[in-house]
Amino acid sequence: MIPPGKTIGIIGGGQLGRMLSMAAANLGYRCAIYAPEPSGPAADVAARWVQGAYDDVAALQAFAATVDVITYEFENIPVAPLEALRTPLAPHPRALATAQDRATEKAFVKAIGGRPAPWAVISERGDLDMALELIGAPAILKTRRFGYDGKGQARLKDAADADEAWAALAFEPAVLEGFVEFEREFSLLIVRGADGAMATWDPVLNVHEDGILALSTVPAALSPETVDAAKALAEKIVTELDYVGVLAIEYFDTPSGPVFNEMAPRVHNSGHWTIEGAVTSQFENHIRAICGLPLGSTARAAPRVEMRNLIGDQANGWDMILSDPAAHLHLYGKGQARPGRKMGHVTKLFFD
Ligand code: AMP
Repeated sequence: MIPPGKTIGIIGGGQLGRMLSMAAANLGYRCAIYAPEPSGPAADVAARWVQGAYDDVAALQAFAATVDVITYEFENIPVAPLEALRTPLAPHPRALATAQDRATEKAFVKAIGGRPAPWAVISERGDLDMALELIGAPAILKTRRFGYDGKGQARLKDAADADEAWAALAFEPAVLEGFVEFEREFSLLIVRGADGAMATWDPVLNVHEDGILALSTVPAALSPETVDAAKALAEKIVTELDYVGVLAIEYFDTPSGPVFNEMAPRVHNSGHWTIEGAVTSQFENHIRAICGLPLGSTARAAPRVEMRNLIGDQANGWDMILSDPAAHLHLYGKGQARPGRKMGHVTKLFFD
């Protein structure tokens, strides 16, 4: 157990690091951030910021020596330097390695009984023709690594789009995925404690705009069978990975049940509603889990909760948002409101 008063090291200094640091501070911990940028959203609320590259083993080790436990808020970091650290680290880098590669991730989920979309590994242009024959079109080509918010993806209406799609991904190793005719997209967040205790928050209905999460709503209006299947897979994933902390899984809801899309071995944008909308937020439960404290209740605090992302200049409307006294405004302290940049979010609880 890492008791309150100790220091938590967080790799990555964005808004997730900011909200983790605030939750940690409430529990009496101090946070130190390690990130390649000179500063970031977490800098305003953490005790210390150390600038260093994610693959700088010596710098990471020096950072690790100054903290009592390490976690990460960003998954596109090399795994090997983390594995070399002697400071306790959660979640286990195995989870990171699995989630970083779409092919590894899908194979893992399928092996434990989950249902990803049909997929094929694409290492060279020729693979794509064979995969299209097997999977059919429409389909989506996605880079195996470093994709986020819809980046590193190309849609294929039919086989004639193959050349263009392959070039759009800069000829990088990829997977071709069959197009899932889903009715809605939802996510499920689960936390697993150091003692193996597990808790899930209510599934979240997610609406994306331009590949970026725009709106999350709870409850998600899913069938009880779908919720059970999504939860059962989540529990299997975290148990199998001996996972400690919060993990987010994105699903497609289809008439034949949930289809696994992807997972993130960290706190997640679709869980921001839990700050006010649940008894214990995803951030607090992540800190509790990695420090070996008992988990808090994940029960919903209102019949309905809505979380809207403030993307780009939407954040400039903060004064309008505050004219609603029931709105919970979160701004991440980012300077420039560039298009597509997540600047903040606003959460509202509904009791009627
Ligand atoms: P991803 O980055 O993999 O979550 O993909 C971004 C968005 O593209 C998803 O939220 C879906 O709206 C859409 N998408 C991704 N994969 C598929 C698929 N296999 N079938 C249908 N839509 C998809």
